Amino acid sequence: MSWETVIGLEVHVQLATRTKMFCGCPTSFGDDPNTNVCPVCLGLPGALPVPNRTAIRLALRAALALDFTVHPTSIFARKNYFYPDLPKGYQITQFDRPLATQGRLSFASADGESVVVSITRLHLEEDAGKSIHDRLPGKTAVDCNRAGVPLVEIVTEPVIDSPANARAYLVELKRILQYLEVSDCNMEEGHLRVDANLSVRPAGSSGLGVKQEVKNMNSFATVERALEELRDLQVHTLEQNAAVEQATYGAATSELRVMRSKEATHDYRYFPEPDLPPLVLPADWVDLELATIPELPAAKRDRFVTQYEVSAYDAQVLSATPDLADYFEAVVTARAAAKTAANWVMGAVLRDAKESDGALRVPPERLAELIRLVADRTVSNQAAKQIFRAMTTDGDAPAVIAGRLGVLQVRDDSQLGSWVEAVLAAHPDHVGRFRGGEKKLLGFFMGRVMQESGGKADPKRVNEILREKLAP
Ligand code: ADP
Ligand code: ZN
Ligand code: MG
Repeated sequence: MSWETVIGLEVHVQLATRTKMFCGCPTSFGDDPNTNVCPVCLGLPGALPVPNRTAIRLALRAALALDFTVHPTSIFARKNYFYPDLPKGYQITQFDRPLATQGRLSFASADGESVVVSITRLHLEEDAGKSIHDRLPGKTAVDCNRAGVPLVEIVTEPVIDSPANARAYLVELKRILQYLEVSDCNMEEGHLRVDANLSVRPAGSSGLGVKQEVKNMNSFATVERALEELRDLQVHTLEQNAAVEQATYGAATSELRVMRSKEATHDYRYFPEPDLPPLVLPADWVDLELATIPELPAAKRDRFVTQYEVSAYDAQVLSATPDLADYFEAVVTARAAAKTAANWVMGAVLRDAKESDGALRVPPERLAELIRLVADRTVSNQAAKQIFRAMTTDGDAPAVIAGRLGVLQVRDDSQLGSWVEAVLAAHPDHVGRFRGGEKKLLGFFMGRVMQESGGKADPKRVNEILREKLAP
């Protein structure tokens, strides 16, 4: 029997605000435990929540960019449960009246197919604190700095058909959120955490199989691997004629670990948050945010393909972040050929960024100058790489650096001619063979002349001079 995979993803995204969702405590990461707390986020008696306008604005922008229906009125609700890192005993979230429903996200799968994922809902909520298991031997510590940090949860329909597409969805979602500056999406700091649900069913059937869930992953590679593992386990189970049991796994380590078998149907006793009025979004606010959504990754990729005639793949690499895309366009605007600029950005520039913590250290105008020096054969491609490396720490113009490094190409015919003469004189037998028809010896002569010049001869001109002098 052949099987079909069905995946739905729940993604928690930390919004890029300075302060928490319902109080003024900072959201900064890595501070001493329990220093960024107050009566509101600790749930002390009498403390009242005040919604963070920036958080609402960011959630709204995410919803608009993902084509959601945004609801003019949504309701905050209390989700009640007991856990040590939840000092209030409840989490403020949105339940039956979320901020937005029916969104969608499109992306190209690995085999170039266009995929559209329907997204069920996007709602605002606050994060819980953190249980820390490795700080005190034999004990669990609680840090409430994260309690109350603003999140959106984005939940897809069960419609993703492979672990690879689940990953592609997440990559595209992250890109969009970064373009919008809705979230820094810093994975190490847990800004984007994924719960992945998977079931399998006989190929071609329409019902849904029993789902299993892997919770709280903060790496897309882990998501893909865990889903592959889960899919293989379920197929194996069904092929033994056994039943898949509903289960929840943790994938903190590389191996799946059962957290709960048989889902205890939680009763969260949801009810509308009595301390907060309904969240009402004025229409003109929604319109204003919609009007200021920037060009999103998909639109930018399409534009790069048509405007700069780069490949779809190159367009994707060049638009990976708004900064990189702007950088590429600035190089082109500074009068560099688009395709050459693309190759430089995808090569030397990205390599340098990797070594410098993401910084794009060579100003785009400088890179454009360098590209023009290669185009007019003032320096070789080889030398240009060397000049680029120097430019990462040196603000001088590339021509000045080239002079200092002694890599300006020699284009002076009399100098080139004398190098050629010297090589021909040193290899009379090769000259004879070339004139006798062994045309591929041209490469040999080229190599010798370049060597003779210490790599500085302009190869194009050398080639021409060689052909002239070798003519019978
Ligand atoms: P729960 O109440 O267990 O969280 P939901 O119905 O809210 O379940 O769905 C949570 C996520 O699981 C959603 O992303 C949804 O698309 C996905 N999902 C639900 N049922 C299935 C299924 N049978 N197979 C795969 N994914 C599913
Ligand atoms: Zn607080
Ligand atoms: Mg769930």
